[in-house]
Amino acid sequence: MLTDGQQLRLGEFVLHVRVSARRGRLALAVERDGTVVLRAPASCDMKRAEVFVRAHAGWIADKARLRDRFRPAHPSRALVDGTAFRYLGREYRLLLVQGSEPTRLRAGRLRLGATAAANPADGRKAIIDWYQRAGTNWALGRFQPWAGRLEVREPDVEVRDLGDRWGAYTPDAGGGSGRMTLHWAIFQLPIRLVDYVIAHELAHVRISGHGPDYWRLLRRAIPECERLKDELDEMGRRVWLGETADIPPGGGSDPSA
Ligand SMILES: [Zn+2]
Repeated sequence: MLTDGQQLRLGEFVLHVRVSARRGRLALAVERDGTVVLRAPASCDMKRAEVFVRAHAGWIADKARLRDRFRPAHPSRALVDGTAFRYLGREYRLLLVQGSEPTRLRAGRLRLGATAAANPADGRKAIIDWYQRAGTNWALGRFQPWAGRLEVREPDVEVRDLGDRWGAYTPDAGGGSGRMTLHWAIFQLPIRLVDYVIAHELAHVRISGHGPDYWRLLRRAIPECERLKDELDEMGRRVWLGETADIPPGGGSDPSA
């Protein structure tokens, strides 16, 4: 028998079961956040649910594809041991350590103090702060060779939350080299994509806007820039933006990240 609130894994699908005593038939729905819900009568057994879901597998897959195409799929992460976080494209599992030690990568684990982890808002902030620190240091060491290839002076860098933009460049009215701002979340992406964002913003030191001149300049530094832009659009929709979850979805790892 199915139970209300149960998660059912059938083939490639994870279904959230809602059981209603008033209901006579099975029904499927895909919610806005992508959750696939199976509504079932109280008397429904596993076999019947399985047959129903298999018969509608094509429908679920179509819905999921449509949703993926149009909707960001930013995951949420539970701040518990073993949750996967990415840094520069590589996966690091969270390790909760006693007390309030500063968040850092060590021995292949992302260490987070249990004190911060106990409160989702504190834990989230501790991890985002770490992305900002690590990202700032990494980006500063990465401006070359891009600044050299683009023949621009290196701007100041700031890493923070930029909303729905990955990077921004602000010229300096006083003749300085301006300021590049990078979203902390990009440091989850593979290095080639972080490089793309950095080079993209550095090219704006010379040319503002995205006219033909701009792309000609950027292509000189990164010949495959159009392909990287597409890849960034695709992968960027799936990075973690700081949403925390109480329970690890699907056991802690996120297959889409
Ligand atoms: Zn731009």
